[in-house]
Amino acid sequence: MMKKIILTSIAIFCIQFTYAQYGSFDTSKTVPPFKIFDNLYYVGNDGVSAYLLVTDKGIVLIDALYANYTNDIPAACKQLGFDVKDIKYILCTHGHFDHCEGAEIIQKLSKAHIGMTEPDWQMAEGSVKADYTSVHPNMKRDWVIHDGDSLVLGKTTLHFFETPGHTPGVLSIAFPVRDDNKVYNAFMFGGVGLNFEGVKRTEMYLASVDRIMAMKGIDVNISNHPAPGKIFERAKLLSQRKPGELHPFVAPKQFQSWMAELKKAALKKLDDEKKKVGK
Ligand SMILES: [Zn+2]
Repeated sequence: MMKKIILTSIAIFCIQFTYAQYGSFDTSKTVPPFKIFDNLYYVGNDGVSAYLLVTDKGIVLIDALYANYTNDIPAACKQLGFDVKDIKYILCTHGHFDHCEGAEIIQKLSKAHIGMTEPDWQMAEGSVKADYTSVHPNMKRDWVIHDGDSLVLGKTTLHFFETPGHTPGVLSIAFPVRDDNKVYNAFMFGGVGLNFEGVKRTEMYLASVDRIMAMKGIDVNISNHPAPGKIFERAKLLSQRKPGELHPFVAPKQFQSWMAELKKAALKKLDDEKKKVGK
């Protein structure tokens, strides 16, 4: 219990610090799971996202929550009519505990492979010390993802990008989502918050943002915290959608304007970081 309180306090600090512009939300509050696209379901909580990407060769879980709340994921799978044992891959967008701490639990239940980048595996395994991280010496390191890798599961291909900054090895993911007979390009920027320090890291973050902004054809923002991608607001619009209306998550211009906001905030941080070291 104490651990839960401590972790929650740290998380709330982290979230308020990082996402002040998105209002308050609770990283421990359960929310009912819901369908977003024909092949994508939300199984996260009020403050941290987790998604099931369903393919004809098994399910991919994107992020696994804090260990304390990971049991919500098997429950959500059951509620949506899926079996947690059908999860074949767990992708951790980065090594902070709110995204990867629960991966070990889901791996035990499903025998799924866990995929993460090399720098963030080192954080999760404890060989590199980092903030907002818990150590998982027993987590089976069976898949190190590199920039440019892809994963083909039947008709679904996921493309991976290393977009460092928030952590040294943030994993971003491009994947197709389906709405009836239409297919859209979804993108998850795997590390958004500016809760890190240093000129070099801030420059890395800015380079990642520039790289993503230059990518063509991103239709859908699937964010790894619900607030930045307006996941709940859009889900409400989705539940009220009338036949023939565009899917409310399909919003390419909003994705670009969100990235521009991130860039503006990061440029200010770069100035601040430079002042700190007298540059
Ligand atoms: Zn993080």
